[in-house]
Amino acid sequence: MDHLPLKTTDSVRVRYAPSPTGPLHVGGARTALFNYLFARKNNGTFILRIEDTDPERSDQKWEKDLLDSLKWLGILWDEGPAISDSNEKSHTYIGDYGPYRQSERKDIYEKYLKKLYDEGFLYWCFCTKEELEAQRQDQIARGEPPRYIGRCRNLSPEEQEKLRKEGRKGVLRFKVPEKIIKVNDIIRGELEFDTSLLGDIVVARDFSAPLYNLAVVIDDFEMKVNYVIRGEDHISNTPKQILFQKALGFPRPKYAHLPLILGPDRSKLSKRHGTVRVQGYKEEGYLPEALVNFMALLGWNPGTNEEIFSMEELIERFSLERIQKGGAIFNIERLNWMNGYYIRRTPLAELTEKCIPYLIKNKMLKIKNDKYEIVETGEIVDFNYLKNIIALFQERLKKLSEISEFTDFFFKDKIEYDKNLLLWKEMQEKDVQKNLKKCYKTLKNIKETEWQRERIKEELLKEAEKEIDRGYLLWPLRIALTGKKASPPPFEIAEILGKEKTLKRIEDAIQKI
Ligand code: GLU
Repeated sequence: MDHLPLKTTDSVRVRYAPSPTGPLHVGGARTALFNYLFARKNNGTFILRIEDTDPERSDQKWEKDLLDSLKWLGILWDEGPAISDSNEKSHTYIGDYGPYRQSERKDIYEKYLKKLYDEGFLYWCFCTKEELEAQRQDQIARGEPPRYIGRCRNLSPEEQEKLRKEGRKGVLRFKVPEKIIKVNDIIRGELEFDTSLLGDIVVARDFSAPLYNLAVVIDDFEMKVNYVIRGEDHISNTPKQILFQKALGFPRPKYAHLPLILGPDRSKLSKRHGTVRVQGYKEEGYLPEALVNFMALLGWNPGTNEEIFSMEELIERFSLERIQKGGAIFNIERLNWMNGYYIRRTPLAELTEKCIPYLIKNKMLKIKNDKYEIVETGEIVDFNYLKNIIALFQERLKKLSEISEFTDFFFKDKIEYDKNLLLWKEMQEKDVQKNLKKCYKTLKNIKETEWQRERIKEELLKEAEKEIDRGYLLWPLRIALTGKKASPPPFEIAEILGKEKTLKRIEDAIQKI
């Protein structure tokens, strides 16, 4: 039989298997998400396995980034490294098939590598880099596909010994049989590979150091993985992995290769298109719910026009069959729109909690005991005060990081702006001055105890209605209070600023013009 089919009673076991050679990117996070959704949907198990077989490129800091990012997104694994707050590597694992870090699985690999060697599937190859390169060039020159032609396949033990004595180290190569391998990919349909194009494959540096393609096959078998859901860039690895499975007598998992994520110019999404790191999105103030919702639609669709899905809804609706073959375009506008949607639905107190760190980072605010200090003025304000400010912007925020720029005039003693901004339509400076004075007078007459937005609005509108256009009165006032063209209504701003500061800013504007 070509491969052992999975019993339909097997429960789903999937894995996300990142190599910690860089931070988690949107592409990797989407692969993790699709594995997670598929596992949850089928009451299966989602495994996180760290593929750190390359000691030079793997770094603990990237592993931490991967774990933290997945945790932030709510893509939580059932088996894998235990989450710890420390920066140190945790050697604690959840699940029965650990360790879930390849660097700690050497004994397991050794057992299988020896088995393959004893059964004649592997041989030592002593070709040097230079020899391999010369061979490659030669093949290209003759119009042949470059591949290893098996020079060391039949070395006698004596010849091997001689080469070792010359100081050559050797690697283990797998004898690739010539055949056609067919794979029924859940997303891409039937794929066919001609293994005669592969040449014999290097599978390990020695018996305890397998390379990626073999380590994956061994781990997937040992961890009882029965569905491999991963990026399209792994399609070319699939026939190699199937050859190893056959040699080891392992069942073949089902494969689903996800489409590439493309930038707006239809080239593979990369740093050049903007932020790709998950932590970068977190820093810019994207909510994890929004990013998850957005990533789910990068290649998957529900078959309807619906766009908003919580994690629970995604789990309910997800299926591998609804993943498209063609590349998925990354549209930042759509992400911004979704983020705005989730921001609007966040309870105000929670949103305020989320915005405060941005104000602190921008040195507008400091924590002072259980309150806050406005850095520039030294004033002490409480959480409620900040909540009132954030409330004014909840509707228009697209990213949390925008909050500092939107609200800066609340945290300044004196605001800076160009005096021409005070002019509405064809207004002259003297009209502005006159109208600002009207505002001043009107507002001064409101008692401190009645300083509330409704009252402020009522009094100011009474005056504004006398103008042909309310803007003649309200525009200069808005600029006087905020220094900005776009802001929430001036009544709400005046209420939060308080009577004294409001009058002071109007006075400053009158001086300015
Ligand atoms: N470790 C591989 C990577 O980071 C993924 C392995 C796999 O999914 O088979 O690209």
